[in-house]
Amino acid sequence: EIVTRFAPSPTGFLHIGGARTALFNWLYARGRGGRMLLRIEDTDRERSTDAAITAILDGLKWLGLDWDSDWISQYERAERHREVARELVAAGKAYYCYATQEELTEMREKARAEGRPPRYDGRWRDRDASEAPEGVSPVVRIKAPHDGETVIDDEVQGRVSFPNKDLDDFILLRSDGNPTYMLAVVVDDHDMGVTHIIRGDDHLTNAARQALIYKAMGWDIPVMSHIPLIHGPDGAKLSKRHGALGVDAYRAMGYLPQAMRNYLVRLGWAHGDDEIMSDAQMLEWFDVTGIGKSAARFDFVKLEALNGQYMRSTDDADLHAALKAFLPYAEGGTAILKRLDEDVELDGKLLAAMPGLKDRAKTLAELADSAGYLWAERPIAPDEKAAKLLDEAGRAVLKGVLAKLETVSEWSVEATDSAVRAFAQDAEVKLGKVAQPLRAALTGRTTSPGIFDVLVVLGRDEALGRIKDQIS
Ligand code: GLU
Repeated sequence: EIVTRFAPSPTGFLHIGGARTALFNWLYARGRGGRMLLRIEDTDRERSTDAAITAILDGLKWLGLDWDSDWISQYERAERHREVARELVAAGKAYYCYATQEELTEMREKARAEGRPPRYDGRWRDRDASEAPEGVSPVVRIKAPHDGETVIDDEVQGRVSFPNKDLDDFILLRSDGNPTYMLAVVVDDHDMGVTHIIRGDDHLTNAARQALIYKAMGWDIPVMSHIPLIHGPDGAKLSKRHGALGVDAYRAMGYLPQAMRNYLVRLGWAHGDDEIMSDAQMLEWFDVTGIGKSAARFDFVKLEALNGQYMRSTDDADLHAALKAFLPYAEGGTAILKRLDEDVELDGKLLAAMPGLKDRAKTLAELADSAGYLWAERPIAPDEKAAKLLDEAGRAVLKGVLAKLETVSEWSVEATDSAVRAFAQDAEVKLGKVAQPLRAALTGRTTSPGIFDVLVVLGRDEALGRIKDQIS
């Protein structure tokens, strides 16, 4: 059975790179009938927060990525990590090191003076415990091999080898008895039965050190895939402006989770030229072997376009539901949601307006914005451009078209359309010259869904009332 895991550190939001890593792990496992586990790497007590844990769990849920069994706290497993460290010491694969802070500083400075990277010189590696000084709490260090090389056969990076002389006797347990990240990751992945590790390639050097721990314990090393990081559209490190944001920010910008999944899966992985993929297709097609070695580029413009495509192909009722689920995260959205929940008629109008709205919006935020005319308070306060259309000439047109519309008995797109056209013909003005002030009066804006849709969605009384407001 395939077992993958997503192992975020709860020191900030679930950022877009983490979300992609989670997606890849989820697809890899679930596409093969396996399990994906979630481990929160909360060993750094100073920087880990409950708020970050909540943000990670919420972000994954929003993206539709679920995990098997309860999530695991790495911190709570510290006793088990200590046990493994003791086992390694007992087996002669690790040792207690009593070097003092002063000695370590000295080693660092000597290395700097000689122009080589700082590393522990192994001075306690072969000393006997009986030589231990009084009153010094030791750290536990691994006995790393001095010669040869450590090879990682990575599914994405290929065969990567690290000369062992570069991997020093790194620390497994700190002097306060707390495990290091390096030890904790290996013990947890082993105990959780993880068979495949998919994570950012910033962990590739760690992989070599972790391999030493696996070997020392005689454990199987999981299959590793170190995936290239995400860069900005210009190829530079991803900046905030270019998308280095938390998943919650994407939710608040009004992206659909399914569009997000589709966009993320193609960041660094592709299936031919397929742009739109259903979950079923992603699950069937995704494989780490298709991941490229170079950094993927995040591009807001493409994400928006894809999201717009998803919105247009979502059916009205589902999009209506998605918009309502989005509102609590949008500015001022909570009040709107409350009104929709209290006013069944208004909610019905929103649903009826969907076909006209979704044609023009790339995000749910834009959709909510262009639906704003539905819940605008009367009399409508037109924006600056719309106000210009409601000048004397515009109001004269409105008076005429109002009289015509009042004669319409069956309030439909066809009937209002022919009434407005008939008026334009009689008055010898172009249809646009009528539609513009009409739109301004009905929506307070110069752009909106089709004007006859607006008339019908608002309903006879509301629509005629809005026109009257502007000419009285
Ligand atoms: N906690 C690490 C991180 O957030 C991931 C460790 C791993 O995947 O092995 O970068």
